[in-house]
Parts: sequence; C-alpha cells; structure tokens
Amino acid sequence: MSDTGQAAAPFVRRGGDLYCEQVALQGLAQRFGTPLYVYSRRSILDALQQYEQALAGRAALVCYAVKANSNLGVLGLLARAGSGFDIVSGGELSRVIAAGGASSRVVFSGVGKTAPEIERALRAGIRCFNIESEFELQQVSQIAGRLGQRAPVSLRVNPDIDAGTHPYIATGLKSSKFGVAYAQAAQLYRRAHADPHLQVVGIDCHIGSQISQAAPFEQAADRLLDLVEQLERDGVRLHHLDFGGGLGIAYRDETPPSIGQWVGAIRRRVDARGHQDKVLLVEPGRSLVGPAGALLMRVIGLKGGAGGNFAVVDAAMNDQLRPALYEAWMDVQPVTERALPRRTYDIVGPVCESSDWLARERPLAIEAGDVLAMLSAGAYGMSMASTYNSRCRPAEVIVDGSDVHCVRQRETIDDLIAGESVLP
Ligand SMILES: *Cc1c(COP(=O)(O)O)cnc(C)c1O
Repeated sequence: MSDTGQAAAPFVRRGGDLYCEQVALQGLAQRFGTPLYVYSRRSILDALQQYEQALAGRAALVCYAVKANSNLGVLGLLARAGSGFDIVSGGELSRVIAAGGASSRVVFSGVGKTAPEIERALRAGIRCFNIESEFELQQVSQIAGRLGQRAPVSLRVNPDIDAGTHPYIATGLKSSKFGVAYAQAAQLYRRAHADPHLQVVGIDCHIGSQISQAAPFEQAADRLLDLVEQLERDGVRLHHLDFGGGLGIAYRDETPPSIGQWVGAIRRRVDARGHQDKVLLVEPGRSLVGPAGALLMRVIGLKGGAGGNFAVVDAAMNDQLRPALYEAWMDVQPVTERALPRRTYDIVGPVCESSDWLARERPLAIEAGDVLAMLSAGAYGMSMASTYNSRCRPAEVIVDGSDVHCVRQRETIDDLIAGESVLP
C-alpha cells in the first residue's frame, strides 16, 4: 500500500496498454487464450491488510466469503495471510481445506445446510454455524448430540433493514428468506442456551451485497446490539459479534465507504456501547477480491443493425453473469488503445439468450480480433460461471509482480462430458 493507505490500482494503463501489476494483459490473452480471468495478488492482499489495519488492537477475525471467488489459488493466498472463511456449502469447506485454510477459522452460513454438510463441518471442527432457522437449530443440535459434541452456534438475525441495493442481493429485509426473524431471535437464543448439544458463541447478520452507503450497516449494527444487550439481561452472553459482509465497490461512479471507514464505523459503535470484550467478525467477499480481477475477452466480430452496433465477443453470460442477472454495469476497456473511429457498441456474447449481454452502449475504438478487459470482475465472476451452451469455463491466472501463475486450466470438452453417458 502507498502512504495514503489506499491500495495501488491493480490494473493500470502504460503507453496505451493495460497492465495487471507488471504484466501486459495483451500478452496474457495470447499466452492463455480468452476468455480469461486475471487476478492481482497484491490487490487481494492489500484489501485484506486494510481490514486487518482497521481491526488492529482488537480481537477480530476476517472471514472471507468464499462464494465471491472460490479458486484455490485465491483461497490459498488468503489462508496464508491468516484470513478466516465464511462458507455456504460443504463444497466450499472442501475448497478451504484443500487450499490450506484452517477449519477453526471457518464460519458456516446459508439457509439450507444439509445433514451431511452439518456432520462434516462438525467433524472438521469449524468455528461457528451461523444458524438461519429454527429447524436448522434443531438439526445441528441433534447431529452434534449423535456425535457427542457441542456445536458452536450463532444466530443469523434478520435486522429488517433496507440496504438500498439490488433486490436480488438485498438479504436483510423482513421478506427475505435469510436469517431468523428479529422478533423470534431472543426466544431461539434462550432455547439454544439451554440445549446441552449447543454452545451459543455469537450473533451475526448480513444485510446484502454491493451496499454503497454506511447508514444501513450502522442501523443493522444498532439493531444487533439492542438484541445483544437484551440477551445479556436474560443471562445469555455472546463471545463474538459478526457483522457480515456486503461492502460495495466502485464499478462505475458509486462511492462506497472505504474498508477502513466501514470497519471503523462498526468498531466505534460496538465500543461506544461497551462491547469491547467481544470478538469482532466480518465476512467480506466482493470488497476483498472484486477490484483485483479482470475478465479478458476477444472481439469475434462487429455487426451493425437497425438498433445499433454489436461487438460480439468470446465471453458470455455463462462466464460473467452479473449484467444478465442484476443488469450490472461493468467497465469494459480495450486492452490496447487503437487509432480507430469510436463507435457505440453493445458488447454481447455468443450464448442463445437475449439476456446475454456484458455491457451496453459503450463508445469504443475497436475491431475484430481486439482484446477487451472487463474490470472489477474478481468477485461473483468465475464463481458464478456455468457451462450453458456447452461452453468450457475460462482459465484463471494470478499475477504477482512480473510473475504469472495459472491457477485454473481452461476447461475442456472432455471435462464437460465426463460423467455423462449414452444409453446402452
Ligand atoms: C455473500 C455473503 C457475504 C459476502 O458478501 P459481499 O457482498 O461479497 O461482501 C457475507 N456473508 C454472507 C452470509 C453471504 O451470504
């Protein structure tokens, strides 16, 4: 990081060419093919360091939300830097362990944990189950009892806060499927407290994603602390407070709080209300890995139509779902600047769906064969990729200074059809 505490931009233009750290993206596209996800190691570690600085001097754990980007290379970097992990499936637990992460630093969220997933997590010795319903509390208790264990639990409380984000990524409203209703939480806590197979260790919330204002987080923190204080009056003491993730990043002109501002605001509130004794947890996903990634794609061809111009590229909604799913605006830039007339294009992929677009109405000076970079694509990019239209998923590389590590080979058609068969 620079002296100002701001991380250096992971993608910078030098002499008309876009670079990731010291490596030209044009060369990466040539060497590894397109579509290709490229991540900056330094950007990820800088973001983690910003979280750690903001929590310095306090018992705390940053639990990276694995679903944002679950590549083993990314998880391994974070594990070695001391990060914890927030998982939402048994598959993610396997990834964390395969990447060298410690189970004792894993919290397990999600509304539909299955019995085998719960058993596996108990045997692995995870730090905490973030319980999202009454039935889950019962099930965890029952499985822990059968294994002769006491399961560490926290209730994910729904604080009924409007996070002001896209409806598909808002999770803190009463109407949401996530978490335990606020009004029901105290009663469930008392039950958990009395259950010999459960150990109440904390409380958590997660109100949504890509939140670009501080106010919803502060409201949620206050609601959570109100409940914590009520529980303490009832004799239920909590060891940790988990404020979830959800901090937004600047895709376009959003101005979310910085990591330091967000964590600082929560920390001040918690301390002002006298909870210095409790361990603080956060579960950031996007803000750790989003800015660190780019998706490289090549222009297959340009076509004009009655409605405008299309740049048809070799990446598509199966590689990058955010525009199709949330109508998300993602910055797309040519990797090499060219002296060509600028035209306005919709950037679309080859998939047979009208929702298969990556960017709309972008003035670009490009021609067939050019490489484009979609920026801030490190979160919810590859982790949401599918093989729809029998398209092989992209390769992924991590750039470290002037070194490049391929952390996932491009999928092949043999990979795709492995496990399938025709009838005898
Ligand atoms: C997705 C998720 C996160 C991470 O959200 P970001 O917006 O990527 O920071 C954290 N906690 C839970 C429970 C989640 O589901």
